[in-house]
Amino acid sequence: MTDSIFSKIIRGEIDSHKIYEDDFVIAILDIGPLSEGHALVIPKEPAVTIDELSDEHAAAVGRVLPRITRAIKKVTGATAINILQNNGSDAGQVVEHVHFHIIPRFKDRGENVQGSPSFKNGPGLELNWNPGTLTPEEALELGKHIKRLL
Ligand code: 5GP
Repeated sequence: MTDSIFSKIIRGEIDSHKIYEDDFVIAILDIGPLSEGHALVIPKEPAVTIDELSDEHAAAVGRVLPRITRAIKKVTGATAINILQNNGSDAGQVVEHVHFHIIPRFKDRGENVQGSPSFKNGPGLELNWNPGTLTPEEALELGKHIKRLL
């Protein structure tokens, strides 16, 4: 548990461009957007990573994520969306409070190249996906251990 900048935003101690709020969740526009409409969905529970999040707050996030995504997609005209969720610094997490990125993507356009000059200054989101292999034996062994904990 931590008192991150997002806890301060949730308490209203720091300004944000809030686009949604209910008892469990807020959503704000990201201050350093990777594309037009880049937003953060943040459970109010001060968990650092998703494995610390209660079922109640996880369910609350899941309930609103599609709805907020739909609204952002409609407003921006995005042709696709990435939902990104970083847990731990090794995964690129900077703010130590669980949050889900909603990152609009645009066909035939640099991700953050939009009409506004503020979206013309960077490469936006770049994903490098380099898959390995999984044998049936490895899958059985790994799956057995994971299932035991669920
Ligand atoms: P992370 O790398 O932790 O997954 O992403 C943190 C995100 O929070 C970044 O995209 C960053 O731009 C955003 N962010 C950090 N501080 C603030 C802030 O004070 N206000 C808003 N709206 N976004 C923030």
